[in-house]
Amino acid sequence: MKNKKIIVVFAVVISLIASFSLGYNIKTKNNDINNTELKSETVEITTSKEKYSGKKPKYIFLFIGDGMSYSQLQLADYYLKKTGNNGLDILKLSTNGTIQNQDKTSLIPDSASTATAMATGEKTKSGNINVSEDGKEKYETITQKLKKDGYKIGIATTVNINHATPAGFSAHRESRKGYYEIGKEMLNTGFDYFAGGDFKDKKGENGDKKSLEKIAEEKGYTVADSEEEFEKLGNNSKKENSSNDEKYLLIADDREKTDAMKYSIDKRYEQENGEDESDSLSDYVKKGIDLLSDKDKKDKGFFMMIEGGKIDWACHKNDAASALHETIDLDNAVDEALKFYNNHKDETLIIVTGDHETGGLAIGNSNSEYDTHLENLGLQKISCDRFNEEYVSKYKKEKTDFKEVLKDIEYVFGLKKPLVFKEEKAKEDSDDDHKHSDENSLELSKSEYKRLKKAYNLTLENRKNRTKEESILYGSHEPITVEVARILAQKSGVGFTSFSHTAAPMAVFAEGVGASEFDGVYDNTELYEKLIEVIYWEILVFYNFSK
Ligand SMILES: [Zn+2]
Repeated sequence: MKNKKIIVVFAVVISLIASFSLGYNIKTKNNDINNTELKSETVEITTSKEKYSGKKPKYIFLFIGDGMSYSQLQLADYYLKKTGNNGLDILKLSTNGTIQNQDKTSLIPDSASTATAMATGEKTKSGNINVSEDGKEKYETITQKLKKDGYKIGIATTVNINHATPAGFSAHRESRKGYYEIGKEMLNTGFDYFAGGDFKDKKGENGDKKSLEKIAEEKGYTVADSEEEFEKLGNNSKKENSSNDEKYLLIADDREKTDAMKYSIDKRYEQENGEDESDSLSDYVKKGIDLLSDKDKKDKGFFMMIEGGKIDWACHKNDAASALHETIDLDNAVDEALKFYNNHKDETLIIVTGDHETGGLAIGNSNSEYDTHLENLGLQKISCDRFNEEYVSKYKKEKTDFKEVLKDIEYVFGLKKPLVFKEEKAKEDSDDDHKHSDENSLELSKSEYKRLKKAYNLTLENRKNRTKEESILYGSHEPITVEVARILAQKSGVGFTSFSHTAAPMAVFAEGVGASEFDGVYDNTELYEKLIEVIYWEILVFYNFSK
């Protein structure tokens, strides 16, 4: 009895400390809510798992799908299979684990705090990159540690190279928004390989600073920002007399206006229309392997962090079709690592995970109930972002008639206008009808037609200030685009709960040397601990190595 009391007191104290330090203390009129005893007993489990004492990985790949949780993976995998393809290779990796990722300020974290957790094993507040909550303490990243230890370091992403996730593995900053400063610090690391979209704010916020590309050249980086220069790099370009510490900065030449790489769905559309194939994340992994791995047996190996950054961007816009193509793009990048692994099985470790979930994506919604028609998402030709740029901006300028807009919507999203245009005659919703499981109408119902029209009117209004209701419906995005993507998603059996991130846990997949360490359910800081354990267990044992 006495023991039980002690346990209760202990549990309450711990939960108070936890809720206080995490900053999400629940406050209600009923002050007792924090003291409600729900679970007082906890059973200690002694693990039968032994400490790692296997081989030390020489080549380490850490893939991070930004905004990618189980449901994003599941959507891409089911979609592939539904459309006659092989499923995702990520799901075939031998080890699977789950990570929790709340940060110091929120149960729903952002890419900066989660990258910090994975890169340093430290929790911080949302928005901070590898510094403590107050910004005073800088944390050493795993990439810095490994660089000192002789590993070559590569960072690749589909978004801007100085965005939060790549910055999380190469910079320290109280705000993830200091893009220029972050870029400068990245180039000071001496890391061996950066590849992806161009720097955001590459000449500073006001465009009056020395270009980061110029700084890169001054720091000794070989900069390739065109297809031709990219082709020239590689093993063969390694001149006989070149030193072993050549550094590379690869900037995709096929970018969108944010200077990130283009969405995969858009690149696919361009290719289908005869345009040249442009670089993808998998090309950057392949090139990274070429440039960082040395035939010289003395080399200590490499660590590469590769981010699929636009899964997050698509999900923020509730653009399911673009999100699934980004996930497939990441899977293709993982394939390059797997090919390398097949030739270096006892030296390579591959980890694939996400940083946080975006959009509250789920397969299933109240419109489609138990039905799914994921193949409908294949009708969408371009990303919502590109639809905004190429179509919506024109509508706003020309106040295009809604009938014309519906024609575009049919072309771009595959949604058919109702046969009769007058709203009252448009196809009635089949709420009360018996619903067949194979019913898959791409024709807009009366209520869908009304929703689109309402959203279109709001798009044309082009108001800065939105009512609370409008914000819930459309976030800060173009109402017509959000609505059309939502209707297509609903007709496909997909739903979103948010335009922001959610607290869904992350999936972890691992293969190769030390992979089995990454199973179980754990915190994102432990991903770092596990990496350290696998790489430095000998030192940890003999010298009580501490981070
Ligand atoms: Zn995000």
